[in-house]
Amino acid sequence: MATKRQTIALFGGTFDPVHFGHLRMALELRQALGFDEMRLLPSHQPRHRQSPGVSSRQRSEMLALALAGCDELQLDERELQRGGDTYTVDTLEALREELGPQVSISFCMGTDSLLTLHRWHRWQRLLELAHLVVVTRPGWHLPEASAATGNAELAKFLQQHRGTLADLHEYASGRLVLREQTLLPISATQIRQLLASGQSPRFLLPATVLQYIEDHQLYTESVATGDP
Ligand code: ATP
Repeated sequence: MATKRQTIALFGGTFDPVHFGHLRMALELRQALGFDEMRLLPSHQPRHRQSPGVSSRQRSEMLALALAGCDELQLDERELQRGGDTYTVDTLEALREELGPQVSISFCMGTDSLLTLHRWHRWQRLLELAHLVVVTRPGWHLPEASAATGNAELAKFLQQHRGTLADLHEYASGRLVLREQTLLPISATQIRQLLASGQSPRFLLPATVLQYIEDHQLYTESVATGDP
């Protein structure tokens, strides 16, 4: 009998700060797609792009607090350890090197990221290293995305690599898979704005993360939009 292929998924973001939208999304993806591991991957941000007064280390510490006691989600700090600009392709190269050719790696993203994929560093290499799992709102179709991208090369590339959920377990990389999921209407921008205006964001994020924010007096400056 063929042995089951190990499946590892990554969910990247700035997590500035992490909130229940991120956590539910990651957990539901893991449960629904049957990944062996789901890793949350905070991206390093150069100093000029950070929220004022909030370091990459602090974003990661908030994630660690959010994941404490949750065996189903892991924290992967490799992009922070590397420092400098974060390129997903470099992360996936390193991970592939570490895990070997047999393990299935899935990089999960929202449709907003998919539509700008052609501007990512060495974007066509991504699918040689991993699968891309795109979380869509119910009813969203790839052809609409093709029109929306305005980039024929990207649209063709996406169509050529379209795969099914079963492919994530059958192959190690190379498929683009759409996964419909309802998103909680929460954003880190909203949380930063609430904090900057002196209002509480409680019930949008774990209480331990809010306590950390208060203890370190984060996000209190009025520049809270996340714009560079
Ligand atoms: P910001 O408001 O600063 O843009 P964000 O809340 O969108 O932040 P990010 O860290 O930029 O969070 O996003 C990380 C990943 O989480 C992205 O793939 C994004 O699509 C996804 N994401 C963001 N908000 C939600 C949500 N409410 N539910 C599920 N996924 C989300």
